[in-house]
Amino acid sequence: MPDIIQLLPDNIANQIAAGEVIQRPASAVKELLENAVDAGADDIKLIVNDAGKALIQVIDNGRGMSETDARMAFERHATSKIRNIEDLFKIRTMGFRGEALASIAAVGQVELKSKRAEDETGIFIEIENSQVIKQEPVAVSTGTSIAMKNLFFNVPARRNFLKSNAAELRHIVDEFIRVAMSFPDIFFSFTSNGQQVFHLEKGSMKQRIVQILGNSYAAKLVAVQEQTDYMNIYGFVGKPETAKKTRGDQYFFVNNRFIKSAYLNHAVMNAFNEMIAKDSFPMYTLFIDLDPAQLDINVHPTKQEIKFEDEKIVYAFVQSAIKHALAQFSISPTLDFELDASIQSLDAVSKPFTDDNKSSAISSSLYNTFTKKNQSHFVDNKSELRHWKDFYEPREHVPVDRWPLVDGEATGIRENHINNQQRPTTENLFQLHNSYIAVQTERGYYLVHQQNAHERILYERFALAIEGKPMATQQSLFPATIELTTADAVLLKDLLPDINHLGYQLEPFGNNTFVIQGTPADVNQGNEKTAIEKMLEQYKHFSNDLKFSKREKLLRTLSLQQSVKAGISLTEKEMKNLINDLFNCSMPSSTANGKPTYLEFKKEELDKLFGR
Ligand code: ADP
Ligand code: MG
Repeated sequence: MPDIIQLLPDNIANQIAAGEVIQRPASAVKELLENAVDAGADDIKLIVNDAGKALIQVIDNGRGMSETDARMAFERHATSKIRNIEDLFKIRTMGFRGEALASIAAVGQVELKSKRAEDETGIFIEIENSQVIKQEPVAVSTGTSIAMKNLFFNVPARRNFLKSNAAELRHIVDEFIRVAMSFPDIFFSFTSNGQQVFHLEKGSMKQRIVQILGNSYAAKLVAVQEQTDYMNIYGFVGKPETAKKTRGDQYFFVNNRFIKSAYLNHAVMNAFNEMIAKDSFPMYTLFIDLDPAQLDINVHPTKQEIKFEDEKIVYAFVQSAIKHALAQFSISPTLDFELDASIQSLDAVSKPFTDDNKSSAISSSLYNTFTKKNQSHFVDNKSELRHWKDFYEPREHVPVDRWPLVDGEATGIRENHINNQQRPTTENLFQLHNSYIAVQTERGYYLVHQQNAHERILYERFALAIEGKPMATQQSLFPATIELTTADAVLLKDLLPDINHLGYQLEPFGNNTFVIQGTPADVNQGNEKTAIEKMLEQYKHFSNDLKFSKREKLLRTLSLQQSVKAGISLTEKEMKNLINDLFNCSMPSSTANGKPTYLEFKKEELDKLFGR
């Protein structure tokens, strides 16, 4: 038998390695923008065509590259940012792995132009399949321009994996925002197919946030700012009333690097505690700076996750800082308290970090006061802040297991098996608390949750309609226009065909604006704008759930949004229709999201309970 192991040819090895770094156009955007930031630029332009599939170009006025460096830059593991393993623990730049340009050159056709201030002429390099195919001097101004054309031209399988242009563009917008947000003293612009999407003048952090997230936050930001020797936190949180039903506008940056951290998010949510409704999400843009030695940013190739040397301290610090900020903004003077002194006196904060003092810090009672409720700045129930709650809708959700169930059949009978005994008679029904419909069956009665039931009905109706003929639209008498943030506009464009099929009639009107020509019959005229905003919020809420397709998310969103809410009084006719429609559904017993639509109470069990 011959030996069978072979080394992969370079270009294939490169392409495989590139797959980790460049998964889609947005990954290349992120890497190129970060390189421009690392190069000290204060003017960075992003240009994409066809959602980056045809062209991604980043032009910066940073320090540029020498001829040799420009060629070296495209080698794997070529970086100017670290030299030895110790440097890994001092990283202040966005990049350090030396993989990005090599990966980009493996999966796209690259053109680089670069010049340093001290050089007379610049250099032009063209690369294809990781090979330099052209190199010549060029007259350019100081800085670097890197263009990547025809992403995955040489890996058709990957190219086929790319999503629609609208979807890919949305990823690009996300990455652009994440970089632009953390560098307000850099000018950024973003042009897509010749149209300017963002133009972000240099300014303050607050201005940058408002430029990106929209004017609605302008007067509604609370500054967060705490400094200690161990770490600093600064940034803004939205006032409680700006909380949304989606976690869209939440950004955490550690040493200017965007990160996702459920743990730190929890710390913020905890700080907002009673000020916002349980199912809503506050806006925040928070920057944590700490000694890179306290971090491991090496855990994930796309570097969105990091490990803190001591997570608990960071958690307590974030939570306290937000509480402090909110207390200062709040109306109640009794909530004011001095935070710095107490945090400062934490051993973990004031002394150099060793394992010993780490464990003693964590067990100290002072540390515990930061992590437990009822600490000095815990907003207690008797305080004035309690009334915040009154501004928000009460939670209607009662856990199913609290219901006095008769035989444990929490969700009633199973799907598709509604027999005559089980089918309710709509002769005998009434509404309770404007939320429940009690309706008699041959063997007992059902308690139907009107909103959950309607959600189920709409969901099945939409699911049928989306495959079939478009749903009825009511024309708007006075077509309103709605202006969205760029990210939302890109999202809406992506959903437009399906949304319009399901009863809306929305038309793009340039510049993130849409005209509302019509809405589904159930949406009240005059409320069109709110309906659309809420729909987008709701959709984004589901977006975190990757297991659903775009359509599934939309079906769930619209059925949730257009369902009759608990608290609305229904006429007898409306109740009858609702009950009939529900029991004609193919899965009447729960909503698409798994909440029960009705509970069954059997007469014989009731009799038993009454000793009969
Ligand atoms: P890394 O950023 O991890 O060092 P990259 O592959 O992204 O790796 O870049 C390789 C090197 O090329 C960088 O270390 C830097 O020296 C140089 N470089 C890349 N982009 C630029 C740019 N826009 N301006 C100046 N130098 C750059
Ligand atoms: Mg880089």
